[in-house]
Amino acid sequence: MHDLSRPAGPKIIAVANQKGGVGKTTTTINLAAALVEAGQRVLVVDLDPQGNASTGLGIEMDDREFTTYELLLEDIELSSVVLTTATDGLLIVPATVDLSSADLELISNEKRSFLLHDALRQTQMDSYDLDYILIDCPPSLNLLTVNAMIAAHSVLIPLQSEFFALEGLSQLMLTIREVRQSGNKDLRIEGVVLTMYDKRNNLSQQVEQDARDNLGELVFKTRIPRNVRVSEAPSFAMPVLSYDSGSKGAAAYRDLAREVLSNNAAMAV
Ligand code: ADP
Ligand code: MG
Repeated sequence: MHDLSRPAGPKIIAVANQKGGVGKTTTTINLAAALVEAGQRVLVVDLDPQGNASTGLGIEMDDREFTTYELLLEDIELSSVVLTTATDGLLIVPATVDLSSADLELISNEKRSFLLHDALRQTQMDSYDLDYILIDCPPSLNLLTVNAMIAAHSVLIPLQSEFFALEGLSQLMLTIREVRQSGNKDLRIEGVVLTMYDKRNNLSQQVEQDARDNLGELVFKTRIPRNVRVSEAPSFAMPVLSYDSGSKGAAAYRDLAREVLSNNAAMAV
């Protein structure tokens, strides 16, 4: 039977927050792995010149000959930039530091904000039979992040359960509004996820309260706990779901995947 809950192509989610260290890359990798565990085929696009998502998913530097940079700025076969990972059904377009010059090179390109949008919608993409594309954004509201938001159906915002967490969120929301006006009017907010949550810490509780008061339903029920297994997994080049499947971190990302999947089902109604 035709599954009405699925958009025509893969659902594209930009994981964004201009603050560094809030859990964007960790969430991209582990949400992707949890969606794969739930039977989805997922492509991660590493859009951060730091290439942390690529490293965290085990892509060696030697294997990053063609990257997001080429995907955006050169006419390249998709099969050269889409790599497999150790997790079956989890693919990645890796990044290297080369991408840091893209932001400048994009400025003079008349399609500058639409390059990722167009790259992800080329017909060759169909052969990967993807359900989701998750874009790991850089810690900035630059042209790369705008490319992600123009390409995406929704933005998922990790919010670190720390002081000043909500500071900067209004700037992010403003950028989302600008993107809606400049080419992607249907851009949604997938949700805000509290990361590195410590339930014994008053500050975490306070950030959660503030977030729920201000953002209401946009805040996912799932909170990602601060969990040492989550922080160890990237140095073993795997998602926490593979590194320690029974950890609290893995369980939380499974819960988040369930919420993301049900968001999609709800949208179809
Ligand atoms: P960003 O991509 O937003 O810069 P990262 O995902 O790289 O943030 O996370 C920043 C740091 O916090 C990393 O060292 C990561 O391992 C750690 N971290 C992220 N989430 C958790 C968590 N739930 N528990 C423990 N450490 C975490
Ligand atoms: Mg990152």
